[in-house]
Amino acid sequence: MENTLTTQIKETKKIRSVFTVKKKLLITPHLIRVVFHIGENQAELLANVKSGSNNKIFIPTEENSTVMRTYTNRKIDLEKHELSIDFVAHGDNGPASAWALKTNPGDLLEIGMKESIKPLVPNADFYLLAGDATALPVICAIAEQLPSYVSAKIVLEVAGKEDELILCSVADVSIEWLHNPHPEQGSRLAEKVKSIDFPSGVLKEYVYIAAEYTTVNELRSYFKTTLEWDPHGMYICSYWKAGQAENP
Ligand SMILES: Cc1cc2nc3c(=O)[nH]c(=O)nc-3n(C[C@H](O)[C@H](O)[C@H](O)COP(=O)(O)OP(=O)(O)OC[C@H]3O[C@@H](n4cnc5c(N)ncnc54)[C@H](O)[C@@H]3O)c2cc1C
Repeated sequence: MENTLTTQIKETKKIRSVFTVKKKLLITPHLIRVVFHIGENQAELLANVKSGSNNKIFIPTEENSTVMRTYTNRKIDLEKHELSIDFVAHGDNGPASAWALKTNPGDLLEIGMKESIKPLVPNADFYLLAGDATALPVICAIAEQLPSYVSAKIVLEVAGKEDELILCSVADVSIEWLHNPHPEQGSRLAEKVKSIDFPSGVLKEYVYIAAEYTTVNELRSYFKTTLEWDPHGMYICSYWKAGQAENP
């Protein structure tokens, strides 16, 4: 009996619910923010889900089925009853991007997520946060959640100057932007990250990288093999793969 209870307590609660689109904002030329209304019952479900956590969205298809894609809960605002997801507008070659381009207030979307049991990043004194446009939502959320006594170097690759965003953080943050209008044809992000000098005298460093598969592979090998980085001090994750759909 005791074992069963322990298991139940440790289990992360899974949430899956249909949300209604409240508004859509083109926050940059290539980033669409879809704001969903959080109903009263949904607010209870989302009470322990953190902004910046992942979700699964289920896009309806013409065949009366759905396709699943992974996105970030950019912001969960229980006071305003709003859940925001930022979609990179990469054209109508993918169901998620196509859905975001054509969605309107009143549309429905089924979204699944888990309760957040851990902070987005563990405690550290210095953070290196790097990513392409798909990682903007999570990196913005991390920056917003960092405490004032830490510092962070942020490297972000977006299509162009007009795709840069203002990041809010109370931490000591420096941001560098790279421009790449065709991320499916390659990226300079890995090269840039490898050129970064980490500050000396820092007790604990943490590296968070999310980007296209090739960049991620190169940087994972750089930190793991070349720098022999502590595996607990990094999260390096592929968010998409050029030329390949998620769950093809
Ligand atoms: C944990 C996690 C969180 C993520 N959070 C976000 C998020 O908040 N916002 C976001 O926009 N993305 C996010 N992504 C990335 C997103 O899941 C992928 O970009 C996904 O492939 C988009 O689905 P789609 O249906 O538009 O295209 P797919 O059907 O998956 O792909 C169709 C074609 O489009 C290409 N493609 C896919 N994404 C891009 C892109 N960004 N730029 C150019 N070409 C592309 C593919 O290579 C393929 O050729 C996240 C991924 C992960 C794993």
